[in-house]
Amino acid sequence: MRKARPIKPMFSLSPVDFRTSAIAGRGVFARRHFNPGDFVVAYAPRQRKVDARDPEAAAAAETKLTLLSGQRVIIPDTTAPGGWLCNHSCSPNAAIFSDGDGRIECTRRIAPGEEVTIFYGWVSHNEPVRDPCQCGSPRCRGFINFDLSDEDAGRARILPDNTVELDDVLRRRFGEYAAFLQSIGQEQVQEAIARTLVRIKLRKPGSVVCAY
Ligand SMILES: [Zn+2]
Repeated sequence: MRKARPIKPMFSLSPVDFRTSAIAGRGVFARRHFNPGDFVVAYAPRQRKVDARDPEAAAAAETKLTLLSGQRVIIPDTTAPGGWLCNHSCSPNAAIFSDGDGRIECTRRIAPGEEVTIFYGWVSHNEPVRDPCQCGSPRCRGFINFDLSDEDAGRARILPDNTVELDDVLRRRFGEYAAFLQSIGQEQVQEAIARTLVRIKLRKPGSVVCAY
């Protein structure tokens, strides 16, 4: 009788790996199939959480890697790769969820070897070409950020009941972007745009003052 060979210890491969991406820097790549709703990777396997009002949270936000989770801000330890390495795509196959410790979830079927991408939803002010996009999607919009200029703000009016009135030009621009956001399941970005618009209006001297 042959002697039984020693059994190799079983180990599970990480479902993703982290390597150089054609989009930018290091990216997250699938090592197996993922289906919509599947957990893909933790946002930050090593992280710290600080209170959102802590000055450290504002300083860390400059890295654009922080996530607001309830009243706390997740600051990734960038020595440990994780979902924080996900690149942006204008046609993402995953999304970020910031509750708890933060995680990346599949939103569209992902094949092994495919890069896992999310939609950043950045909104900028007077910096239209701040974040060029290299996602390579046929639907690429050219820039990651959606920019609001002072001219845009001039096209909006805050009414006494705290609603915002847009002129036809701005309404068309927002409508087009809202349709795009809806097509990729990122409607929540509209709230960030609305918040930024109101912030610009309220800070601008001579603008309509919101009646609270
Ligand atoms: Zn793009």
